Amino acid sequence: MPTPPPGTRAHDPGSSIPVLFDTPAVRERDPRPGLSGLSPEELLAWFAAHGQPAYRARQLADHVWSARAASFEELHTLPAAIRAELAEAFRIDTLGESLVREADGGLTEKALHRLDDGRTIESVLMRYPARGPRRERATLCISSQAGCAVGCPFCATGELGFWRDLETSEIVDQARFWRRHLAENGHRVTNVVFMGMGEPFLNLDRVLAAASLLSDPRAFGLGARHITISTSGVIPGIEAMTALRPQYTLAISLHTARPALRDLLVPLNRRYPVDDVVAAATDYADVTGRRVTYEMVMIAGINDTPVDARAAAELLRGRLAHVNLIPMNPVAHTPWQPSSPERIEAFAATLRAVGIHTTVRRNRGIDIGAACGQLAAELAGTPPPDAVARRRNLLVDRSAAALRDAGGGVAG
Ligand code: SF4
Repeated sequence: MPTPPPGTRAHDPGSSIPVLFDTPAVRERDPRPGLSGLSPEELLAWFAAHGQPAYRARQLADHVWSARAASFEELHTLPAAIRAELAEAFRIDTLGESLVREADGGLTEKALHRLDDGRTIESVLMRYPARGPRRERATLCISSQAGCAVGCPFCATGELGFWRDLETSEIVDQARFWRRHLAENGHRVTNVVFMGMGEPFLNLDRVLAAASLLSDPRAFGLGARHITISTSGVIPGIEAMTALRPQYTLAISLHTARPALRDLLVPLNRRYPVDDVVAAATDYADVTGRRVTYEMVMIAGINDTPVDARAAAELLRGRLAHVNLIPMNPVAHTPWQPSSPERIEAFAATLRAVGIHTTVRRNRGIDIGAACGQLAAELAGTPPPDAVARRRNLLVDRSAAALRDAGGGVAG
């Protein structure tokens, strides 16, 4: 097997996952920006600078955002000379090969996308068929970074480490990919959530630019209320978004209200403590009138106890808040398991008892590794069993210490 490039793991030929891409793991980046990262104004300015009328920019935008054209050659409405100049200056798509896997009878699909430099990112599409008066929905979960530096121990992406920030176009091209994919069967993307690989607010400017393009009727054209940006608690990012007063939903990856335990589950808590994060999120709710979503990944015996439920109820009662309880998606490097349905229901009952809207989510796509980072981790290669065992033991020790420090233990 060839020696893997620095910073990558070799693919394990014994893995159940076949080699997904033949391309080398990491290579030089293409210097041309992606066309979809340009705002409508920037596109107009480019055409004006090239002596072209404004309607040409609109023709191009129509092709880019309807996701019809896969290459500049297909843009027949534009003169050949302009097509050639565009191809020299921009890429029409920043995603290379994409591998799509299905689960839940086709209702969940996950894509692993190869970027121009060989890095991989993931996006997941979850379809919800029409029920009663509710129309069909298709929620797309997209990545904002390749890898992630936050290092939440229950997350496969956190285990991979951080590679790089995504360009604005690399973020929105995930939505364009699925628009094209769904259009083949007469469906469309109705919601976008920034909950894939990466911490969105550590790539703040590009994430806000991408959200703006996704909600701009001249670009992707989703309603702002159909976009959710999730953060593990980067307070400057929450404040920056609050200042813009958008109508996006803010989601906080809370996972526990107990500070010492949160130091373990979301290491960023040491920098941005949970009470301050919730205060910043409450400001967002006050300024925008939008209810904040708090996400809690439920891990058996770690953060799902009656003590945790009471702490979360105390922290969130009286706030404009909605809580999502999501059973943990098992990942190879942790000894942790998802909480039982009974535990999750008991937790939900404690929150509802103090008036907090709470939803228990189903874990979708376990069989295709739909948790953030799982496919990319498998592609990166299976770590040796002794390394996995060491990592698991370390987590057992650390979680025991965190539960001691958090006080109250696991007893109810
Ligand atoms: S859960 Fe989110 S913030 Fe935490 S390591 Fe994974 S991708 Fe990063």
